[in-house]
Amino acid sequence: MSFTLAIVGRPNVGKSTLFNRLVGKRLALVDDQPGVTRDLREGQARLGDLRFIVIDSAGLEMADDDSLQGRMRRLTERAVDEADICLFVLDARAGVTAADEYFADILRKRAKHVIIAANKAEGRAGETGAMEAYALGLGEPLRISAEHGEGMDDLYRALQPLAEQFAAQNIQQAPETDVAVEDGDETEDWRPSASKPLQIAVIGRPNAGKSTLINKILGEDRLLTGPEAGITRDSISVGADFMGTPMRIFDTAGMRKKARVTDKVEKLSVADGLRAVRFAEVVVVLLDVGIPFEQQDLRIADFAETEGRAVVVAANKWDLEEDKPEKLKELRESFERLLPQLKGAPLVTVSARTGKGLDRLHNAIIKAHEVWNRRITTARLNQWLSAMTEAHPPPAPGGRRIRLRYMTQVKTRPPAFVVMATHTDKLPDSYARYLVNGLRTDFDMPGTPIRLTFRDQG
Ligand code: GDP
Ligand code: GDP
Repeated sequence: MSFTLAIVGRPNVGKSTLFNRLVGKRLALVDDQPGVTRDLREGQARLGDLRFIVIDSAGLEMADDDSLQGRMRRLTERAVDEADICLFVLDARAGVTAADEYFADILRKRAKHVIIAANKAEGRAGETGAMEAYALGLGEPLRISAEHGEGMDDLYRALQPLAEQFAAQNIQQAPETDVAVEDGDETEDWRPSASKPLQIAVIGRPNAGKSTLINKILGEDRLLTGPEAGITRDSISVGADFMGTPMRIFDTAGMRKKARVTDKVEKLSVADGLRAVRFAEVVVVLLDVGIPFEQQDLRIADFAETEGRAVVVAANKWDLEEDKPEKLKELRESFERLLPQLKGAPLVTVSARTGKGLDRLHNAIIKAHEVWNRRITTARLNQWLSAMTEAHPPPAPGGRRIRLRYMTQVKTRPPAFVVMATHTDKLPDSYARYLVNGLRTDFDMPGTPIRLTFRDQG
């Protein structure tokens, strides 16, 4: 083990959620109600190629009661003292509170290394809270979402150099033994290396042909088929060489074969399906061409978008279709009408049974992944922004024009942009959509969620 990381912060900011994500016990309980008292929890975490011990100091309620507050302080101090690095978590949506400052104070005095993370910052949320956190003087806050797995790449980049430093210090000590944590399929395997397999999930309603498709890609009958609902609830993943591209395919038993079960089990199964989406970089939404679009398909595709995954839509059982050109047109139209947020997502037709169209699917996955990782230079973005505002100036509510001053890409996977502007509260949603649609067409980014936030500059 290379180092110990303590997750520190006031109650309810998402420490346990982050702990669970890093340790990978996804079915561990996250409690919504305050007041659940636990002691320090320890687990073996992995993030990409990093292996470390993580300590969760969650579980104590902030209270007026002196003894409880004292206990919380002692507990936090113990976690801080045991750790090489402290990850100080705040709630980006709530901004910096007095309780946060209390913890910041402990950290400033005792911690060896502090990384500050503004949690619950999924999508466009928490922009201001993250900015406020700068003011604590503990460094630049990472924007993360423990629940949705966003920002784990940034966390990796913050930890990695420290891990190297500790490894260099420990070189005289006993050689590291390989710790067996191989229930580890559940942890995020994020690594910024080109050789890493591309992670995909194939989702869709029962009988769309998911198992058939995955088996075809694997070229053998390796996939577990037809477990009873409730028996295998874990994500199944298999490595595959899909037309020369290494991939890892996530699939969920619960979603695939859903028998009639009680509400409770049903709920878990759906969560499992969604979990497969969380593991994936590219989500293949598989449709049965014989059956029209349904709410269920849309919900699945929409979830993939909300989670920030790249999406490829594949219409399966194409071998059964007679009027192919007409059908393709119809599919494309209904998709764009029903899911405008994924405008232009690649739509390919396949036959999982015959294997026809798998080359198209392969190419669409590669392309979607590339777009999802795309980085656009600030110079190009600003040229583009001034052309866009010239063609269509933002409105001038009350005679004062909203100014969009400057733009930059802050993240990839999926691409996220920030525009510095004045009077952003007055900017209509339609203008934001105009910019997002423009980005999508002008920079050729079909099928990927695009995040655009505005930062107010007064
Ligand atoms: P802890 O008390 O700091 O350990 O916080 P928990 O991990 O128990 O989380 C508190 C609440 O915040 C729970 O309802 C979580 O589901 C929620 N939560 C945790 N992380 C996130 C996140 O990234 N985004 C959102 N929206 N909610 C989150
Ligand atoms: P899953 O529930 O989504 O995993 O669906 P399956 O892979 O079990 O397939 C459901 C049914 O559709 C099976 O009878 C398959 O043989 C059939 N099927 C799957 N793909 C195709 C295809 O491309 N063409 C035709 N004609 N049938 C298919």
